[in-house]
Amino acid sequence: MTDSNFDVIVIGGGPAGYPAAIRAAQNGLKVACIDGWKNRDGSNAFGGTCLNAGCIPSKALLESSELYHRAQSEFAVHGIKTGGITLDLAAMQKRRAGIVKGMTGGIASLLKAAGVTAIFGTGKLLPGRVVEVTASDGSKQQLSGKHVILASGSTPVELKSLAFDGKNIVDSWGALEFDAVPKRLCVIGAGVIGLELGSVWKRLGAEVVVLEALDKFLAIADQQLAGEAAKQFKKQGLDIRLGAKVTAAKAGKSGVTVSYTDAKGEQSLEVDKVVVAVGRRPYTEGLLAEGTGVKLDPRGFIEVDEHCYSGAENVWAVGDVVRGPMLAHKGKDEGIAVAERIAGRYAHVSYALIPSVIYTAPEIAWVGQTEEQLKAAGVSYKTGVFPFAASGRAKAMEATAGFVKLLADKDSDDILGVHIIGPMAGELIAEAVLAMEFRGSAEDLQRTIHAHPTLSEALHEAALAADKRAIDNINR
Ligand code: FAD
Ligand code: NAD
Repeated sequence: MTDSNFDVIVIGGGPAGYPAAIRAAQNGLKVACIDGWKNRDGSNAFGGTCLNAGCIPSKALLESSELYHRAQSEFAVHGIKTGGITLDLAAMQKRRAGIVKGMTGGIASLLKAAGVTAIFGTGKLLPGRVVEVTASDGSKQQLSGKHVILASGSTPVELKSLAFDGKNIVDSWGALEFDAVPKRLCVIGAGVIGLELGSVWKRLGAEVVVLEALDKFLAIADQQLAGEAAKQFKKQGLDIRLGAKVTAAKAGKSGVTVSYTDAKGEQSLEVDKVVVAVGRRPYTEGLLAEGTGVKLDPRGFIEVDEHCYSGAENVWAVGDVVRGPMLAHKGKDEGIAVAERIAGRYAHVSYALIPSVIYTAPEIAWVGQTEEQLKAAGVSYKTGVFPFAASGRAKAMEATAGFVKLLADKDSDDILGVHIIGPMAGELIAEAVLAMEFRGSAEDLQRTIHAHPTLSEALHEAALAADKRAIDNINR
């Protein structure tokens, strides 16, 4: 039995919940963090979707599969002769599982070191900020919190026509754990998960068809970036079909028949496995008892204001379970901000400057506004583009596909958006986020010395190109 009175109780130990718990403890508060994650083997783990079944295992497989692909297709260009390259998927999956185990164990250690009381179990908020915790064995205890932070995350959307069966029709977690490379794989949804996991299995040898309902590819991204991405994925053999509306799927002995309609009419596809990646929805099952005062919006998200305050006295909510992009770093920032506010400190989340990264090859990353958004808002802007084909470092890396595109206000010179497709785009975007966080201008980037030869010079040159002053590329 745990001491039952806390300053702060956090329900959910994912990337939104555990940082909130740690920061609250750093602020001198008495904190409990409750998490109900269950692994396939029934064991518990902190870290939520991100560490157990999302960001971390997907990046482990993206890295391994990219190395496998490059070893097959690129080593010869570098003058490296190898014997036949073979795949040991079991070893690759063991590495993935090992990374997850190490990282999730690390969260438990971090909570302990911060003095947070970590509890495995399912938390339910009762009126008056009492939290009922049900352990795996069914035993219950009640905790009382001066403040409660809800961080229960999200879960995959399931399509009625394609119910998950855990074997042939799976969600992203299932697709991370295949023990054999499917010969033919169908991914429903050309969003972030579809592109990342489609890339993993394509590189490992599957024929991959991605069915996307919208007519537009990567509608959320700058369309110049999306166009380049479509070109690169096509080159890699990812078969992305737009305007494809799935109507049914039937699993049989030899695989799954997927039926869909597109501009040409009714179509069908025979595959071995289907991954459904059509978005995620907020997860609040069993979280809220009657009378807590916490409200859900029509899409099921917990309603909060810009400070993540729910309106129910001293109840806050952060991460995927509230509005905004479903990203680990967004949840982390919100969790920390709430822990600061509870302690009476100033906090701010820069919602307009949350970077997005898609960890394909080439990587895709952006921050701020797209060219389409600036046009629609009638903003007068200038554009600087620098292709990686003109970067010495990218050439040395044999990674010249893609470009950096910088958008700046024509009058004030403020940077309004940076869009990168190319090697290490996810790392490069950090400089743009920092510059924009400090309300930097294109000139600020132009006057900042970038080491040579680095990929970051591409951002420098894109900033120069915005004023037609690029050195290493013909100004456009
Ligand atoms: P979660 O991580 O979902 O954690 C919520 C936790 O709360 C879970 O452990 C859950 O079991 C627990 N919980 C729920 N209800 C209760 C309850 N009643 N009592 C106790 N515990 C409860 N984002 C990125 O930024 N970068 C990426 O590269 C990235 N890759 C991804 C790849 C995949 C395949 C997927 C699926 C997602 C990916 N995401 C990525 C998204 C990222 O995982 C989420 O945005 C992030 O995990 C949200 O954090 P959270 O803490 O809000 O929720
Ligand atoms: P998503 O919203 O990124 O993409 C879903 C795609 O499915 C969209 O393009 C949508 O138009 C399409 N779609 C919806 N219904 C469909 C249907 N019936 N048939 C065909 N296509 C359909 O969602 P996701 O890829 O499932 O990812 C879920 C969340 O996880 C995202 O919000 C994302 O931010 C997060 N995530 C982030 C990362 C990252 O940061 N690198 C990686 C994976 C997941």
